[in-house]
Amino acid sequence: MHAYTLSLSAGELPAYVYDLAALREHAGAVRAALPERVEVYYAAKANPEAEILAALGPYVDGYEVSSGGELAHVARAVPGRALAFGGPGKTPDEVAAALEAGVERFHVESETELVMLAHLARGRRVSVLIRVNLAVPDGSLTGSQLAMGGRPTPFGMDPSQAARVARELASGAYGGIELVGVHAHLASGLDSAAQVAVAGAVVGWATGLGVPLAEVNVGGGMAVDYQDPARRFDWAAYGAGLAEITDAHPELTLRIEPGRALTAYCGWYVTDVLDVKRSHGEDFAVVRGGTHHLRTPATKGHDQPCSVLPVEEWPHPWPRAVAQGELVTLAGQLCTPKDLLARHVPAGGLRAGDRVAFSMAGAYAWNISHHEFLMHPRPGFHFLR
Ligand SMILES: *Cc1c(COP(=O)(O)O)cnc(C)c1O
Repeated sequence: MHAYTLSLSAGELPAYVYDLAALREHAGAVRAALPERVEVYYAAKANPEAEILAALGPYVDGYEVSSGGELAHVARAVPGRALAFGGPGKTPDEVAAALEAGVERFHVESETELVMLAHLARGRRVSVLIRVNLAVPDGSLTGSQLAMGGRPTPFGMDPSQAARVARELASGAYGGIELVGVHAHLASGLDSAAQVAVAGAVVGWATGLGVPLAEVNVGGGMAVDYQDPARRFDWAAYGAGLAEITDAHPELTLRIEPGRALTAYCGWYVTDVLDVKRSHGEDFAVVRGGTHHLRTPATKGHDQPCSVLPVEEWPHPWPRAVAQGELVTLAGQLCTPKDLLARHVPAGGLRAGDRVAFSMAGAYAWNISHHEFLMHPRPGFHFLR
């Protein structure tokens, strides 16, 4: 645990607060739980704040970027680090810029993209991993997980096509474009047992191709439980499972690219209550800000975990609004019923002027939100070192 004193005046709310010491500690524990021969690339799209990328530096082997914008940004924020360029719909300009920047790995999403890359590389040596759309092993998808693989999606190549393209690459059909491995990112929200099964399936498919491969990237998608923040992904069990795979394949470097499970826990969105009212028998508190800053609960359909920080001072001459019941729904300032941060929170006695800190706001939070909607002021950003 780290103790900080961060004083934010009412005028500085809402604010994002990132606990970088907690992030370093968590990333260090993740790294320590994994076998040495497993590489970690951080998926920058989960949270690309420069301070976050830098704090993760000592614990990751590189960064996965999914656009030309992310590529330029990450190369500036953490210069000299290994980058893997993935994502569907790469433009010729983005691919040219990535070649110019000397990107270490291309995750090839389609045969057309591979042909484009070969043209633009003009004989230069380029290392590629073929992204394959495999099915998640039977029984691994149990609940609310989001499957990207094994069904019709715009991600990666169909397994039969991927196998043919891999063999063509290995036979030198694409000149300097060298097949170094296979990439897959099949689902998000998987527990450690399911992730071990996914890794086994991807490695099994890749080694079954019968072409020389040095690397297999088994993707991200480690589960984060917003209903029960204490229930964390079991990195020790995952590490043990991956160790069995690396032991069986000493010729392979195994790589993972987690995003959410690395950074979700280090971020907080802190704000204050503007108004409290009762509507058709239920209490609502309207907080400063909303889902245009923290879109995560709206996109995931959950209640963002939060704690109330009571504030005794009330600076105004008019009376404070107070919740009448025990359960209060926390809404934002947007003129849409979708602007709900947390429903039926046990917060009896909540008053206007009290503060609320929403936790687990370190991944897919600010950077996926629709900031311009309704033109409210932006939050402040604070990095606790
Ligand atoms: C988004 C993404 C990740 C990271 O997923 P998380 O659920 O944040 O761990 C990894 N790889 C690819 C290709 C992705 O698109």
